[in-house]
Amino acid sequence: MGSDKIEVLDSIASEIRVCRRCSLWEKRKNAVPGEGSIDAQIMFIGEAPGANEDIQGRPFVGAAGKLLDKLINDVLRLERGEVYITNVVKCRPPGNRDPTSIEIQTCASYLERQIRVISPRIIVALGRHSTKYLFEASNMHYSGLSRVRGKTFNLNFMGLQVKVIPTYHPAAALYNPRLKDYLEKDFLNVKIAVRRENTSGFKQMRINQFFNGGRGNPLKSNAEKRKIYRRLKGIRSRIKAATRKAERFYLEGGDVSVKEREIKKLTKLKRKMREKFRNL
Ligand code: SF4
Repeated sequence: MGSDKIEVLDSIASEIRVCRRCSLWEKRKNAVPGEGSIDAQIMFIGEAPGANEDIQGRPFVGAAGKLLDKLINDVLRLERGEVYITNVVKCRPPGNRDPTSIEIQTCASYLERQIRVISPRIIVALGRHSTKYLFEASNMHYSGLSRVRGKTFNLNFMGLQVKVIPTYHPAAALYNPRLKDYLEKDFLNVKIAVRRENTSGFKQMRINQFFNGGRGNPLKSNAEKRKIYRRLKGIRSRIKAATRKAERFYLEGGDVSVKEREIKKLTKLKRKMREKFRNL
């Protein structure tokens, strides 16, 4: 499956590198298909390559890329190679102008195929062009970036259920401290969404195990079943309460040490939950 994914993504990238569907090919040095993990849970989608990206053929490698990397490392506690990064438009618009709607429409089929192959749980839309494209492709009304940024939208992107979190483009935040604050805050919401996804996935796995008598948890009698269920319920509600608490804290803002303590507490709870189930 993994090698299939690599093959499909490589073939999309090869098509992009020789593409001449719109006039942007004429002045490009390199097309920029995108890069990252084929199994990424999070996909970052910007609008179009800039000068550095055009030279290197890689997405987000200039100053905006450094800021994006820092947010991925410091806020999400992930490495760049663990996510997937790309743009709506794969070739640099001359002079870093905005891509036109025709260029976006012409190029979007590549992005659509990349999203289908990677099937991320969460897409972070960086800037108004990627947000507008994702909303409109999901039959959602786009009301402006400042209205939707930082919020989580459950979109049906051409049949794929995905959470989309729009935020500002890192390039816009480079010289505007206010936008940089918003960007950091929005990344905390991305972190919360990731944790929720992981918690719900883990919960579902355990519920399936419970009902199916999963490995290491033979359900021999109804009494044992009830006992395991009560324990499962207790642990689930503790995780839920802790997640809510952390979310409230993040949204209200606060110093990093307090945030870190909340994160540690949640991680500890998660570990404890795993241990309890292992002993069932
Ligand atoms: S921007 Fe997209 S559609 Fe236009 S030439 Fe480049 S890859 Fe092709």
